[in-house]
Amino acid sequence: MQVRIIGAGPVGSYAGIQLSKEHDVTIYEQKKSLTIKHSGLFSTNLKNLYKPPKETILNKIKGAKIISPNGEFIEIGGSKTRALVTDTILFDKSLINKAKDKGVTIKTGKKINTVTKKDNRVLIDDDIKAQYLIDASGPNSVVRKSFGLKQLKTYTGIETIAKYPSYPEDSVEIYLGNNIAPNFFAWTIPLGDGRAKIGLITENNPAEYFKTFLKRLGVNKHEEVSGGIIPVDTAKDFIVNNRISLIGDAAAHTKATTGGGIVTGFESVNLLANELNKEEPDFNNYYNTWKKGVGKELNYHHRIRKFYNKLSDNDINELVKKAEEFKPIIEEHGDMDYPSHFLKPLMKNKEFLKLGLKHGFKLF
Ligand SMILES: Cc1cc2nc3c(=O)[nH]c(=O)nc-3n(C[C@H](O)[C@H](O)[C@H](O)COP(=O)(O)OP(=O)(O)OC[C@H]3O[C@@H](n4cnc5c(N)ncnc54)[C@H](O)[C@@H]3O)c2cc1C
Repeated sequence: MQVRIIGAGPVGSYAGIQLSKEHDVTIYEQKKSLTIKHSGLFSTNLKNLYKPPKETILNKIKGAKIISPNGEFIEIGGSKTRALVTDTILFDKSLINKAKDKGVTIKTGKKINTVTKKDNRVLIDDDIKAQYLIDASGPNSVVRKSFGLKQLKTYTGIETIAKYPSYPEDSVEIYLGNNIAPNFFAWTIPLGDGRAKIGLITENNPAEYFKTFLKRLGVNKHEEVSGGIIPVDTAKDFIVNNRISLIGDAAAHTKATTGGGIVTGFESVNLLANELNKEEPDFNNYYNTWKKGVGKELNYHHRIRKFYNKLSDNDINELVKKAEEFKPIIEEHGDMDYPSHFLKPLMKNKEFLKLGLKHGFKLF
């Protein structure tokens, strides 16, 4: 089939790779040069989907220090590597180059404005025809606008790199609190060379919170600030019809707990590619398989976000303090991508259950 993809972000490029064997694939990218949106932190689950080239890996993360609004903290970790910190430019380039090596055409500097379906074909900007279109154009999706689909609720992520002492160099810091990053969190991610990525995600006034956060960390000098918007929303409308679907951030296949969307985006690509690589794709099968796997986990991420966003700073202080009691469960079962792995054992913990019930957290 002639498959056309809008957007050469990480998920669009990965879709190109996964479809290149069976299809004639072209990706349209509005930008002429690479711009990076993410921090490059991925759970080791990434390796089951895409093995990042060695030169892209800057650091390996074994744990996290979670800091509550009152400054108390808990350190969670162990000896296992749980996440990889990558060089974002090299990582995104590796995907684009792999797509090109597999025969995918990437047309940069080509902004797509409209998409329609005509005579069982897709018409892109009135002059490009395709048999199948994948919209990987991010949260401001072209197809969402063209087809009048739900506009996604988004938060904003903002980040920089600065010299920052991390102790130890294999542990991230997560700062919680309504004066730090309301309804989300701020972070430091050690790059392994005395520098760290420093950022936060929040719904409103990210630049102001960011300034205050940098001040709190004592960071005066830093590199250029980058970032972007992140869908924090549920959307079941990602299969538009038998010729068009959305993927990645355009589909809101993003984790509401961390804002990460690359592992979940890649997983969704694989499920879509499984169908598109068949002679007669069955989109119901794609949806049902997605719903039972990635969809179920994304749903848990949303429930956790909903639970967390009801907490006051005092509640967060209490939660972090009591977390010592369920730390062994998190260390054994914790997974950035699959909350189902730790939620079930966590819900059996008396202290967690009490807190959960207090804030109306229903898992099932
Ligand atoms: C500060 C921050 C930190 C993050 N950190 C992480 C992290 O560490 N790990 C992680 O997994 N996720 C992270 N994320 C989320 C991650 O960036 C997204 O989930 C991921 O980029 C989604 O990839 P995508 O390809 O779906 O969309 P995008 O990365 O948004 O790419 C969309 C592409 O489409 C192009 N495009 C848009 N409109 C058009 C058009 N009309 N015509 C042609 N091209 C178009 C854009 O130029 C862009 O290249 C972070 C996000 C932010 C903001």
